[in-house]
Amino acid sequence: MRKPLIAGNWKLNNTIAEATQLAETLTSEIGTINCTDIVVAPVFTALASVTQICASSTIQVAGQNCHCVDSGAFTGEVSAPLLVDAGCSHVIIGHSERRQYFGETDNFVNAKTHAAINAGLTAIVCLGETLEQRESGEMFDIITNQLSVALNEIIAEQTGKLVIAYEPIWAIGTGKTATPEQAKEVHKAIREYLARFDADIAQTLQIVYGGSVKPDNADAIFAQLDVDGALVGGASLNSNDFVKICNAAG
Ligand code: PEP
Repeated sequence: MRKPLIAGNWKLNNTIAEATQLAETLTSEIGTINCTDIVVAPVFTALASVTQICASSTIQVAGQNCHCVDSGAFTGEVSAPLLVDAGCSHVIIGHSERRQYFGETDNFVNAKTHAAINAGLTAIVCLGETLEQRESGEMFDIITNQLSVALNEIIAEQTGKLVIAYEPIWAIGTGKTATPEQAKEVHKAIREYLARFDADIAQTLQIVYGGSVKPDNADAIFAQLDVDGALVGGASLNSNDFVKICNAAG
């Protein structure tokens, strides 16, 4: 049995005061849940405050990104060990917004995944297709290629620190959700691809869906075999919605 995981990606939103308020509400409402892994990803400047609030709860905290090098002359970057230092347990890697706006390649995603796992973080590695790639029939090739490059030289022992987030790009922040069947089909393909290398790992790895998950579509998505929860953007900024989504997963 895989434990569900719900991760709230707060993106570039919330002051420290707003993030603190949201974290306090979540810890009081869902901060004792054990049957689901609940993770929130604030902006870097709010990490220290949010990790302090979440420390007394079961809610874990993620960075939204990390660099592949631990320290040095990389102005503006934050490394995986520094996320650990700030109290994080997870990091989101290769989000489509990073790929689209900051030019992150699959190889860079792979380097970051190694850095994150080596630092002791759980890497939530994002992948997904554009609408054009889906419509032209390239979707499965694109996704398996993203997967194979992102996980290059990740060894079996490291996969306990790995989560895959399937996020069709056309469904992120658009209000357009993949149908439960579309999500199911791709999650199954990802698990089958992983099973070619190791059947046990394929069965234990959490694969979460991301793309306009809301309280009113969460149940149907989570009911799909191979869907182990969600990476939630917009709806994670609203505590009522995020609490409902977390409760739907449990
Ligand atoms: C995301 O940011 O990963 C995401 C899925 O966003 P949204 O839920 O807003 O589509």
